[in-house]
Formats: sequence, structure tokens, C-alpha cells
Amino acid sequence: MTHGKHVYGVVASRRLGKSLGVGPITDNMCNFGCVYCQLGRSDYVPHVRKNFTPVKDILAEFDEALQKAPEFDVVSIVGDGEPTLNTGLGKLIKGIKARTDKPVVLITNGSLFFDPETREEAAQADIVIPSLDAYDEPSFKRINRPYNGLTFEEHFWGIVDFSKRFEGQLWLEIIFMKGLNDSEDAMRSFKKLLEAIRYDKLYLNTPVRPPTESYAQPVDATTMKRIQKTLGGIPLDYLSKDDYMSDIDDSVEALKALIKRHPMHQFEIEGFLRHRRENPKKAIEALQEDKNIEIVSYHNYDVYRFKH
Ligand code: SF4
Repeated sequence: MTHGKHVYGVVASRRLGKSLGVGPITDNMCNFGCVYCQLGRSDYVPHVRKNFTPVKDILAEFDEALQKAPEFDVVSIVGDGEPTLNTGLGKLIKGIKARTDKPVVLITNGSLFFDPETREEAAQADIVIPSLDAYDEPSFKRINRPYNGLTFEEHFWGIVDFSKRFEGQLWLEIIFMKGLNDSEDAMRSFKKLLEAIRYDKLYLNTPVRPPTESYAQPVDATTMKRIQKTLGGIPLDYLSKDDYMSDIDDSVEALKALIKRHPMHQFEIEGFLRHRRENPKKAIEALQEDKNIEIVSYHNYDVYRFKH
């Protein structure tokens, strides 16, 4: 298990299998302030790309991680914030591809696809997963809360443009929330918008971890079924279990390293420990006593996350 500043994992992901994570952005820097963001409030930045972290530093960390010979299926470019904001994205993907023949996945809010240079760099990835949670200008402002100056039209047409030229796999993701983007009207709009995008898969998701804003509530199973019937696509399981793995022997340390990157709910923690044939009680008690970890109750289950 690696848990450096920019390279971490291996983490098991519902869609990607064993994923080695690379984060070109740190400190929650994002040009969106999504109401469902599980990182908490992002550090707002304009829609301007910068050399946030030199690529050579990230690749040096990647080399170090590879020396430990981790077993992984994909390299995911994610990060604590929006990865396309880093001007080194193209160079980073090239550098990763020179070091491994595993597919490179880019997980992005898709906001900078209005910019031809960003599109060109992102197109070097094998799989790109952009988000489209809004269906018009008011819902864009309500849900994604972009930094001043980006309109829904620019965001949407950027994704459309990218989808038409990109030769890899485009997996689109929509996060649905109760009362925010799950109405019949919203469905009609989404249906129309989706017709313009060339995508290979559509993932239907809903928040399963404490969101930034408490009103960003998940949709229930019946609503998700209705959405799937209208839009097609693949709903992600509400609570997936046995989703995480680590090669740190000490289970408490392994869990801390995982939680630092990604909040985990009690079922995931229990599943992780069961997988190791360990009694969850002792490890969970140790997590509860850790001052760096807070436990937030969310829809009748506990979520463990690092304090900001
Ligand atoms: S785009 Fe991602 S990182 Fe940025 S605010 Fe939205 S969910 Fe958080």
C-alpha cells in the first residue's frame, strides 16, 4: 500500500477493479463546489489551469510506488480536487504510459473541456469519466456551484465536443439527489442532453457518504429504478461491501491510510476486516479512539473520515 502525497492505493473500485491512484491536485482545490462533495468544502479556484504540482515530482512518487511491485488493474488520475486543473496533465499521462501498460483512467468534473488543450491532453487517457449532474443553468449553479464565469452551456458543450473526438472509453456519471435533479422535468432534459453525447457507459449514482451540504440527500431505490427506466445506464450499488484492500499488515493502520484518502462507512470497514478474517470490534474501537478521525452519522450508518 502506497500513501504518498500524490500516489496512493491500491484501492479496489466498484467500476475499475484494483486501482493505483495518482492525484495531480492536492488540498481539495477545485473550480466546482458540488453540494454532494465528500471532500467537504473545496478550496475554490478559478477555471484557470496552473502548474499546481510539477509532473516530475508526481512521476518520481509513481516510480517509488512501482518499485513495491503493487498488483493493480488500472491507474486512476483523480486527486483531492479537479485533476484537469494541472497544466501537466498531458505530460503526466504520457509519463504513466511510459511506465506501465495498464489502462489510464481520468476521473474529472469535465468543466475544462471547453478548452481545446485540456481536451487534447485528457484524450490521451484510455478511459475518461466526466460528471454531468446538472441539466440547465439554474441546476448547474445549485448543484455544482462553479467558480464565477463558467456557464452550463460551456460545461455541457465541452463534454459533447470531447466525446465526439475521444477515441477511448467515455463513461459518463450523474449523481442524483432528492429534489435537486430527480424530477420528471429533469429526466426529460437529461434524456435530450444525453442524445448529444457519445458515451460508452452511463453510471447512475447517488451520495452514499456525508455530503458538503446536508440537503444533498440520496434518491431512494424506487426513484433510481424510475431514472434507469428513462435514461438507461447502470445504477451503482448503494452500499458496496468488501470494496477495499491494502497491503499494510496492521489492519488499523491499513484502515487509517484508506480513510485518509476516502471516507469509509461501517459496512465497508466491517467487510474489509472480515475479508482479513479479523473480528471488527477491536479495530473499530481503535479507530473510534483516534483523534484524527471523526465519525459522522449518515442515514442510519456511521461514516469514518479524517478531520480537515
Ligand atoms: S468536482 Fe469533485 S472535487 Fe470538485 S467539488 Fe465537485 S465533487 Fe468535489
